[in-house]
Amino acid sequence: MSDDHDDSPIAARVRELEAVLEEKGLLDAAELDRALEAFAHNATPANGFRVVARAWVDDGFRARLVEDANAALPEVGLSMGGGLQVQRLRVVENTEEVHNVVVCTLCSCYPIALLGPSPTWYKSPAYRSRVVSHPREVLAQFGLELPRETEIRVWDANAETRYMVLPRRPAGTEHLSEDELAGRVTRNGLIGTAAV
Ligand code: FE
Repeated sequence: MSDDHDDSPIAARVRELEAVLEEKGLLDAAELDRALEAFAHNATPANGFRVVARAWVDDGFRARLVEDANAALPEVGLSMGGGLQVQRLRVVENTEEVHNVVVCTLCSCYPIALLGPSPTWYKSPAYRSRVVSHPREVLAQFGLELPRETEIRVWDANAETRYMVLPRRPAGTEHLSEDELAGRVTRNGLIGTAAV
């Protein structure tokens, strides 16, 4: 994938490979550009917001999403495809007892199809190293103070598996429509560095 590793040696290797394939006539650069542009254009956090809102209003969808996110996403017209390889998505659900937070300790793996490009801090060495060893302190720096009894689970993304947090539905939103609920979700809520 060159879409979320642009500053890495891997991205340079991918560009070299693309150049070789193009030279040998095995790859149409314009076609590749169109595919990547379409992917980037469709990759926004609004997708993740929609998934969460549906899960909040449809308990069957919520269960299927947590069980097998890749299989459930087409129900809302989405998929994890679009890159050079299919990524497995795991949706981890916040509860009263458990708060989930996502990181990629190795580099910057992130569910771009559902969340759009990752924020700068997600790629920072400080976040990547600290959130694993001191999750409660890091979340507090984001302004999220969790009760001491809340268990914090940190999920380390990688090339094969990406994670998205399913935040808890805010209290007092029973009267809101699915679209209005989607408007309540935030990108940091999907990473786990904020509540919703
Ligand atoms: Fe990564």
